[in-house]
Amino acid sequence: MNDIPVIAIDGPSGSGKGTIAQKIANQLGFVLLDSGALYRILGIAAHKANIDLVLHEQVSNLARGLDIEFGKNGPGSAALDGQDVSKEIRTNLGSDLASKVSTIPQVRESLYYRQLEFKKAPGLVADGRDMGTVVFPDAKLKIFLTASVSIRARRRYNQLIDKGIDVSLPDILRDLKERDRRDIERSVSPLKPAKDAVIIDCTDLAIEEVVDQVLRLYYCENS
Ligand code: C5P
Repeated sequence: MNDIPVIAIDGPSGSGKGTIAQKIANQLGFVLLDSGALYRILGIAAHKANIDLVLHEQVSNLARGLDIEFGKNGPGSAALDGQDVSKEIRTNLGSDLASKVSTIPQVRESLYYRQLEFKKAPGLVADGRDMGTVVFPDAKLKIFLTASVSIRARRRYNQLIDKGIDVSLPDILRDLKERDRRDIERSVSPLKPAKDAVIIDCTDLAIEEVVDQVLRLYYCENS
């Protein structure tokens, strides 16, 4: 188990982590963990069950029993209780709920164990906020991706528009700043680079440049 390599990719929303993690996993033939999707699905599940998010015990009980399946309806898809929620979890409501449930310490503990299960041969690319600091502290390579908040908002906006989700850029920017604040200020597993992470500012970099840089770092670690 310990010799299964993990590449941890952390950073704020919209830094391009998801796309980059997916490409790296494809190139290496590794399993992909989109940990944000777990928080998003939980947020939507709590919403559907009418659970008030101040009721931490109820939300974390829900987290423990969550019936989630990834890839059921194609690559990158997510199902909750057998129902496809791929689009729903990417809405602004999905982002907001995820950001809120992720501040609950018991929720993070419940989802911690689920995340460990993704570590399978031949390797794992794990994308999130605390992959390198908390969930996979022994990761072979830790990357912390950053980019200016305006470019991150623009990227998120384009992604959502491409998916047919109707949004406005000022709303995205405001919500992104609020979610950054919650991620950085929360008491448990706040967003921060691991001490041994390589920090890449991708404000002016194309996705492929970042992918190449990460792969080069990974091969260096292995040589
Ligand atoms: O990465 P993504 O934007 O899909 O994550 C949604 C939300 O889930 C984030 O805003 C963050 O609050 C939370 N999250 C987290 N820890 C992770 C991944 C995501 O707290 N490892």
